[in-house]
Amino acid sequence: MPFPQRLIEGYRAFHDARLRREQDRYRELAESGQSPETMVIGCCDSRVSPEVIFDARPGELFVVRNVANIVPPFAPDTRAHGVSAALEFGVAALKVKHIVVLGHAHCGGVKAFAEKAVPLSPSDFIGNWMRLMAPAAETVGPQRELPWSDYLTRLEQANVVNSLNNLLTFPRLRALIERGEIIDRLIAVKKTQETGSAFRPAREADMMRRLVQRHHGNLPLDTVESIWRVIIATFTYVQAPFSAHADLSAGDALMRDSARFHFGFTVPLVPHVGAASVVEAVTESTGDLGLVPAFAIAGAGPWWSALEFDSAPKVIARLPFVERADHPAGLPVFVISRVAADAMVTETEVWSMRVSGWTATSVDSLAGLADAIAVPDRAFDGAALLISVPQGGSIDRVTDTLVKAGASVRATALVGSHATRYRVSAEGARPVPTGR
Ligand SMILES: [Zn+2]
Repeated sequence: MPFPQRLIEGYRAFHDARLRREQDRYRELAESGQSPETMVIGCCDSRVSPEVIFDARPGELFVVRNVANIVPPFAPDTRAHGVSAALEFGVAALKVKHIVVLGHAHCGGVKAFAEKAVPLSPSDFIGNWMRLMAPAAETVGPQRELPWSDYLTRLEQANVVNSLNNLLTFPRLRALIERGEIIDRLIAVKKTQETGSAFRPAREADMMRRLVQRHHGNLPLDTVESIWRVIIATFTYVQAPFSAHADLSAGDALMRDSARFHFGFTVPLVPHVGAASVVEAVTESTGDLGLVPAFAIAGAGPWWSALEFDSAPKVIARLPFVERADHPAGLPVFVISRVAADAMVTETEVWSMRVSGWTATSVDSLAGLADAIAVPDRAFDGAALLISVPQGGSIDRVTDTLVKAGASVRATALVGSHATRYRVSAEGARPVPTGR
């Protein structure tokens, strides 16, 4: 039987017309190599040509086709896996940005599976191949009262979902997708926020926790955490530039390490001596961050009283996000900024409080209830306190306890909140809840 004349003419037409017309493009692709952004996993079906459907130019689509556009699950054995090899090449070598599983109607493969068709050959490659669809069929359930064509449509759709699920069984792909999602989500949320800081305390604390929970392999946790902090902080900066004002009075090196570890080198670091100066700088800015030691510094004064006004910045986070004994930037630091209310995490509340009759008994009475930074307050012959009340506690209970211990509470004001402190063991893997 002669080869179809139409295809021979088609090849000539391509050679004489399109190839000539797009000569430059082909030459460029030959010299620099292909770099398609999109990978398509499609069906062998002759009616479903991805290049035709997407009107794609040479070099645009990296295509692998098989019966019923199936992605098999990750199976690291010694057998030959064509689709997996193509996926590996597309993701690892070509670094495609999108993967499309292209399902279609009237798919012969899906139909064969549904009809439990008689094997086409004794080796029955189709039958074996189509068994990969079984999880899809399970999600659809039995046909029952569904018209046959509707049942097939549902199978075709479930088959695409099953292929997408199987994509996630490839560890390399899963890691890339998760990273990509984190950055995409980050960009999405930043764009929604026009005023104040682009820092999203709730989201960032949550992301750092999840990174630690997922952490495995040889890369030290310190490295993973600092890389991610730099990526997140830099993206935040790119969306809405800000500076980090840091109080160096607790130690220049320690505070710089914390600032660089959590915000990288792209975010400008503005040194200050004294927390009050940091608070003032942040108050005058629109979206800057302040970094102040989260412990008492002799002579610092009650810097937090400037946060009591409604329009003032607030304590929005406590660093490091992930605490551990050997943290390379483990200085306890409060982050101060103005952020949208819906971006705040309210697990641990931070209160400004003025008391008189502040004694050693008052200090002891707070044990297990709240953490307090206290400085002398001459105006009331007492103390100005910065009190951190962990989730489950309340400022009322703190007040009652202090009163019972002989102090009198003159004033309280909420000056911020942050995520529950998250501590992991030195090895970095196992979270140890601290309860505050
Ligand atoms: Zn098909």
